[in-house]
Amino acid sequence: MVSELSENAINLLEKRYLQRDEEGNLQETPPEMFQRVAKNIASAEEKKELKEEYEEKFYNLMTELKFLPNSPTLMNAGAELQQLAACFVLPVEDSMEGIFSAVKNAALIHKSGGGTGFSFSRLRPKNDVVKSTGGVSSGPLSFMKVFNRATDTVKQGGKRRGANMGMLRVDHPDILDFIHAKGELTEENQELYDDYKETIEGTNLSLIKVDKKLDNYKRKLLDNQFSNFNLSVAVTEDFMDAVKEDNEYDLINPRTGEKVDQLPARKVYNLIVNYAWKNGEPGMVFLDEINQDHPLPEEIEATNPCGEQPLLPNEACNLGSINLSKFVANGEVLWDELEETIKLAVRFLDNVVSVNKYPLPEIEEKVLQYRKVGLGVMGFHELIIRLGIAYNSKEAVEMAEQVMKFINDNAHHYSQELAAEKGAFPAFDESEYEIPQRNATLTTIAPTGSISFLGGTSGGIEPFFSFQYSHTDADGNVSYFEYDFTEEAPEEALVTAMDIEPEWHIKVQAAFQQHVDNAVSKTINFSNQATKEDVAEAYKLAHELGCKGLTVYRDGSRTAQVLSTEEEE
Ligand code: UDP
Repeated sequence: MVSELSENAINLLEKRYLQRDEEGNLQETPPEMFQRVAKNIASAEEKKELKEEYEEKFYNLMTELKFLPNSPTLMNAGAELQQLAACFVLPVEDSMEGIFSAVKNAALIHKSGGGTGFSFSRLRPKNDVVKSTGGVSSGPLSFMKVFNRATDTVKQGGKRRGANMGMLRVDHPDILDFIHAKGELTEENQELYDDYKETIEGTNLSLIKVDKKLDNYKRKLLDNQFSNFNLSVAVTEDFMDAVKEDNEYDLINPRTGEKVDQLPARKVYNLIVNYAWKNGEPGMVFLDEINQDHPLPEEIEATNPCGEQPLLPNEACNLGSINLSKFVANGEVLWDELEETIKLAVRFLDNVVSVNKYPLPEIEEKVLQYRKVGLGVMGFHELIIRLGIAYNSKEAVEMAEQVMKFINDNAHHYSQELAAEKGAFPAFDESEYEIPQRNATLTTIAPTGSISFLGGTSGGIEPFFSFQYSHTDADGNVSYFEYDFTEEAPEEALVTAMDIEPEWHIKVQAAFQQHVDNAVSKTINFSNQATKEDVAEAYKLAHELGCKGLTVYRDGSRTAQVLSTEEEE
């Protein structure tokens, strides 16, 4: 069975996933790892016969590489840590105690292999009053540097890199600092500097000393200070309307709720676009879109590091992905087998909620109220290649919709069945659902940076970057990859990421988003020659098509994300 694993996959398992003793000797083989995980996850079943039945079913599901849970589940289930979720969002309250308890809690989560997202929007702006000391506040950006340093230090127990998402609302008074937090605002980069200056001119934001900043930026690349962060601006519909109408919009001090200034929306929007064009960051998330779709009353302020999982403060979520490349034969999708796998995967992920050991009591309480899970896919590109469909085509968008609708509908159906068997999620009455279900959300498209490597297929819903490539990890080990579809697929299906126009990347993302409860991890690739206007158009299209956020990467600009592939350290 485990012969399904490639040599590359076995190497990765040995390096990061398999249990070791105190001297560092391997204590298990890959089949034993899947056994450990299957047994632990099946232990959530009440009756002995069910425990046995599901232990075997979960084992087969994973060893056949039809479905894999997120890395923390593979690493920690049935092991000492027993922390199984990849995604967390922590609140950052506007007080010293609030800020530093978030730093501490993030450190605990990173140690267990989870990634953390934060909204810094509640923090008072820099130079605002601090009553207790009679001094002035240093603002969200300066506190984010503390989070970044803490993340560097913890390095996630050596197995996983610390990852954070930092968000700031577009109406926070420090938004301009945030937008260029990773920028290189140097004289050489005059154009970007001019955009920045133009945006700020004529406003009351006199406390931001542009010229002094320019000197600072020449000395160091600011982005090192936020190297463990992905940054996204949380934009509102009011802001997007102001962009359309070319109006000013209000900046609000979150401490007082008062308007402190105004900025021209279109200029701020263009500034975000220009930085994204230059550096790939910041990204944008459409906050109102996210909250509109959220089935619970409490408001979402942030997502996990790669953006696919919006969560409430103190909420966590475990993910798992179906390997679509295993559900195609002779140019046809194997719908019945796929349905069987969805059913098992939903039960698996729901059991993870039950057997997970949460790093904080407040997180445990919230997760057990809502029981959110995130079932997604990997190998979408391989699937469509095997169906003879090119990624940049109408057929690909249709297949994206058809497959994800099938997964989402079935996931909800089987969550309803589970509710009948085991009970609905406790906070069900507060939700918008009419029929009891076991989980407040069911579906999410994760990047599957590591588990698609184990599954031997393309990551998440991304196109292959190339069909042959080598990959060097942090220790200098080189792995070679080769995918040969020439016998199975017509040549026109065989496009790769850079052949695909941004418009098709976005259309595929939007097609998935339509049938996903949470969000979609996707990078929109641009050629090096793409203009700022092209990037602006992309954001506009993503917003119009109902995407919940967007990450762009222009070829040859700097790294788009904290995490691009698992081992690229
Ligand atoms: N993640 C993290 N550190 C890592 C990789 C991932 O914290 O080194 C978290 C992060 O929240 C990300 C999520 O795990 O959004 C899912 O990432 P991915 O699907 O790539 O994880 P995998 O299960 O493949 O390891």
